[in-house]
Amino acid sequence: MAPNTLYDALFAPHMDSAAPFLEWQGRKIGYAKFMRLAARAANAYAAAGLGVGDRVVVQVGKSPTALALYAGAVQAGVVYLPLNTAYTPDEVAYFRDDSGARLLICDPASKPTLEGTCPVLTLAEDGDSGSFLDLMAGQEDVAPVAARGPDDLAALLYTSGTTGRSKGAMLTHRNLLSNTQTLRDLWHFTAADRLIHALPIFHTHGLFVATNITLLAGGSMILLPKFDTDAMIAALPHATAMMGVPTFYTRLLDDDRLDHDLTAGMRLFISGSAPLLAETHDRFTARTGHRILERYGMTETNMSTSNPYDGERRAGTVGLPLPDVDLKIRHPETGADLPPGEIGIIEVRGPNVFKGYWNMPEKTAEELRPDGFFITGDLAVQGADGYVTIVGRAKDLIISGGLNVYPKEVEEAIDALPGVVESAVIGVPHADMGETVVAVVVGDVTPKAVLSGLTELARFKHPRHVEIVPELPRNTMGKVQKAALRQTYAGLFT
Ligand code: ATP
Ligand code: MG
Repeated sequence: MAPNTLYDALFAPHMDSAAPFLEWQGRKIGYAKFMRLAARAANAYAAAGLGVGDRVVVQVGKSPTALALYAGAVQAGVVYLPLNTAYTPDEVAYFRDDSGARLLICDPASKPTLEGTCPVLTLAEDGDSGSFLDLMAGQEDVAPVAARGPDDLAALLYTSGTTGRSKGAMLTHRNLLSNTQTLRDLWHFTAADRLIHALPIFHTHGLFVATNITLLAGGSMILLPKFDTDAMIAALPHATAMMGVPTFYTRLLDDDRLDHDLTAGMRLFISGSAPLLAETHDRFTARTGHRILERYGMTETNMSTSNPYDGERRAGTVGLPLPDVDLKIRHPETGADLPPGEIGIIEVRGPNVFKGYWNMPEKTAEELRPDGFFITGDLAVQGADGYVTIVGRAKDLIISGGLNVYPKEVEEAIDALPGVVESAVIGVPHADMGETVVAVVVGDVTPKAVLSGLTELARFKHPRHVEIVPELPRNTMGKVQKAALRQTYAGLFT
């Protein structure tokens, strides 16, 4: 069989394995069975006319079959492009056309709205019916393995679109495999692990971090369709590890059943994709005895930093650069290296860093330096001991009257006030100041109490307007949609 970097490491070793891979709605699916499903998917891609390097767009619900679509794409050398199930037909059409996809696989219900520049086949929400599944059923359950080297594309993963239009990150076999190997070793994943997987599988966290690590380690996953507190509480006594976004942790903490006993068999809780409040971290430890391990990454770079497995898991930080990642904190304008303790932009270089943005050479040249460093757009400080603390995104930085206001600092001060649940601080256009500070606050509190409570903060950081709202707008990964908030409040001072 031809060499295929990712397939050979993640999938081939399990071909004849009787070990369990997935638990899904009471069903157990062993590795060998999953591999046969993947082979059928690989053959189905070929039957649909896709060859090596062609793109398949996949917008389907979470199911074992959906995971087999990913595995089959790797086997067939097809570039996998999964999409958020919340995207509208117009948005899907953009990704399909931008990527030049040869095939689109979607829910049967959305098929009529997604007909267009390429054939459309279907897979139902539960993964148990649809025209692509029919095509798979007619295929052999062994398939040829396409030759793919370390620099070939494995996936085209579009960024979450938090700061603007999503960009297609070209991820190679080496990018995905190197990061998986590093994280498996760092986080001590083995064949004995059972991971609770309640994340979506169209994003780097659920698709690559969780799934690839499990495959490489030969462990198994309790696959849940989405986060549900009852399902989570039921799964915890049967699992060894969990990967989640911060909202998983806050919702678990809202339930009285979360305690030491429930989590006694767990060895590791991991958080990422959005900032975990230090307060959440500490409350989780008080309730369960576990220290959450927070790590940081993005679509373009996979994971770049992680708190240590054995050393100190420091609340409010994203830990240390991964062993094979060079990380610098650099001046946002000059690009000069900054000393420990100074705020700058995180830049990273390593085998994890993507090949560039699909069809966007100018954007790629702006963010990927010739020496290989990628400019992440996240602002952070690194301590002398190496720990990295993210202070926000460069695009969220507020410059008011020429002075920098870091939203996170103001948010932390507001969150500490009595009655406040959470807050988001944004900059909005202001005739005199350029920009001014607006706080959007959730909680049982008045704007006046918020304003009079911020005595520890310099005046120029104080919000000029406080809006109390029932909840903050978040996407499926738990990220606060600050661009949407900026739009909502753009007219306040102009
Ligand atoms: P877009 O690039 O399209 O605006 P996005 O950056 O939200 O969207 P992703 O690649 O899904 O898309 O998210 C990466 C970003 O998530 C990082 O740049 C960082 O801002 C944030 N992030 C990830 N992990 C953490 C973490 N542990 N703490 C704080 N922020 C995090
Ligand atoms: Mg981004």
